[in-house]
Amino acid sequence: MNNNDQYRKLMPPEPISPEEQCTCAEIQAIYLAFDLTENPIHCDICRGAVAPERIELTPSQVDAVADWTTTFGSIYKLWLQSGSYEAWAYEQLVEAGSAVNLGGMAVAGALSTGRSCGYLWFWNERRPDCCPRCASALDTLPNAFLRCPICKVYV
Ligand SMILES: [Zn+2]
Ligand SMILES: [Zn+2]
Repeated sequence: MNNNDQYRKLMPPEPISPEEQCTCAEIQAIYLAFDLTENPIHCDICRGAVAPERIELTPSQVDAVADWTTTFGSIYKLWLQSGSYEAWAYEQLVEAGSAVNLGGMAVAGALSTGRSCGYLWFWNERRPDCCPRCASALDTLPNAFLRCPICKVYV
């Protein structure tokens, strides 16, 4: 954890700054990544947050994203707290078969209509050098993420 992380739990939800917002003319591909805000949808090109209305999510897609964000956020915060639940939370975040990762993959799949939607996999300290889900070799994307060509998992 860096210095910023320890203060994050005290940061209230606020509108994100314009620099963190995607302003690309066209959104070609997206990925899901919890960033401590309510909106985990990001642009593949600039890594900025994509307003849900820009990609015209259906109500059921919105519900699925919101449910996953709440679950992932709750577990992530338990990990950040470094208390009694830290080890449990870490397992949930890294395990390929955990409910939160299965859910995230399902939501990314549900959002892959018309454009590709990846799923940013949690890792800490050491970036995985193969897919944390299927162990495939990873491609390097222009946005500096590594991506599994099979699962569309990003690390
Ligand atoms: Zn963008
Ligand atoms: Zn994979």
